[in-house]
Amino acid sequence: METKITKSDEEWRDELTPEQYEVLRRQGTEPPFTGKYVYSKEDGAYRCAACGNELFSSETKFDSGTGWPSFYEPSAAERVELRPDHSHGMTRTEVVCARCGSHLGHVFDDGPAPTGQRYCINSISLELDSDR
Ligand code: FE
Repeated sequence: METKITKSDEEWRDELTPEQYEVLRRQGTEPPFTGKYVYSKEDGAYRCAACGNELFSSETKFDSGTGWPSFYEPSAAERVELRPDHSHGMTRTEVVCARCGSHLGHVFDDGPAPTGQRYCINSISLELDSDR
């Protein structure tokens, strides 16, 4: 089991930009078609912008047309944690980083083969590691 990262709200606020903090620690959502990875087709590993945990591979990224980077599966199931989310009058499944608990986005079951899943992730929650 991986080491979990636990930081106080104040520590996160100090470390992250205000925009990152709003999405990663306050469950915010970046406006569609504004994130830096919406159209990215670069090869690499997408890591958690808060802790560096490897979350998604560019190999599973697809163009969903939604305005957010979309993946059909995480790099490994245990890298992310799924939580029921009933905010904003909707029933959705929140996707959080399993290592640091930061908010990444939501997962929906209208994705493409082979999984049928669509991990709809905020660009600001990710950092592309193209060296890998
Ligand atoms: Fe993380």
